Amino acid sequence: MLQEKRWIAGYTLASGVARCRALNRHGVRCLINFLGEHCKDVESCDFGVSEYSRVIRAIKNNKLDAAISFKLSQLGLGFSAGLALRNAERIISLAEKSGVFCWLDGEKSELTGREQKVFLKLRAKHANVGIALIAGLRDAPRQLAKLGDTPVRLVKGAYEEQESVAFTTRREIDAAFGELMRLLFQRGGRFAVATHDPAFLKQAFELEKENKKAKVEYQFLFGVDDARFLKLARSHCIVFYVPYGLEFHHYVRRRLEEQRRFRQTSKQLVRHL
Ligand SMILES: Cc1cc2nc3c(=O)[nH]c(=O)nc-3n(C[C@H](O)[C@H](O)[C@H](O)COP(=O)(O)OP(=O)(O)OC[C@H]3O[C@@H](n4cnc5c(N)ncnc54)[C@H](O)[C@@H]3O)c2cc1C
Repeated sequence: MLQEKRWIAGYTLASGVARCRALNRHGVRCLINFLGEHCKDVESCDFGVSEYSRVIRAIKNNKLDAAISFKLSQLGLGFSAGLALRNAERIISLAEKSGVFCWLDGEKSELTGREQKVFLKLRAKHANVGIALIAGLRDAPRQLAKLGDTPVRLVKGAYEEQESVAFTTRREIDAAFGELMRLLFQRGGRFAVATHDPAFLKQAFELEKENKKAKVEYQFLFGVDDARFLKLARSHCIVFYVPYGLEFHHYVRRRLEEQRRFRQTSKQLVRHL
């Protein structure tokens, strides 16, 4: 393992299970993700379904405190919404029987409309499913209204988007994130604040004290600043996103691009001091 080592548990399910077990010992829950996106044929989508079935069985057999998180494009959304729905339903039904919660990751904006339609169909039948909401998309407040009281994971957004559909400055994205986060706390119910941004975490902890009906969990990507976030498990519901598998390239590239951006921002800040 080279640079991917920081961001993923390993290449196999066993590595995901081992990492999850270790995190559970710290009182931290996990979201296990079998890496993969944009599958182009029925067979590879089917492979995704069987791997997630193995993940669910592993969670149950090892008594892990874990949910799963996957992308609908791994299950065929790119070429057939019907196939993605059927595949997701196979995973979610099995997970439901095993008491495992499922999150749908948010992908590039061209998939968002289809993603949410599939999600709402799944949610009509299954209580164990939630979806990511990308605050950076201009349409996110309307999407949240459509999602009603379903479990939502609020993220800033990892994909590069056109200005016509998404905010492009950090300032605008942060403003949108802050607004949606406040709405979620007011709404109550189950949701996740998924950010490493210390300013938003501070605000969220304050809002959590004021909104007792909110069942909020704080989700973090494994590899960003693990020691700092592990400590929060003493006082908050903390969840780590733990990906594994051989298809790590897209995922790791997104993390490295983010890292590069932060380094540039810190250099600019230092220059201004
Ligand atoms: C659990 C979880 C699930 C996610 N699911 C999705 C999803 O479904 N769809 C989607 O589009 N996006 C998803 N994301 C990614 C998210 O959209 C952002 O791209 C990512 O979290 C970085 O944004 P931030 O909120 O941490 O804030 P930023 O303002 O981007 O970062 C805040 C601080 O966090 C630290 N940091 C963040 N990322 C890195 C990094 N890669 N390397 C080093 N330091 C870093 C830096 O110190 C930075 O200053 C998810 C994020 C999390 C935590």
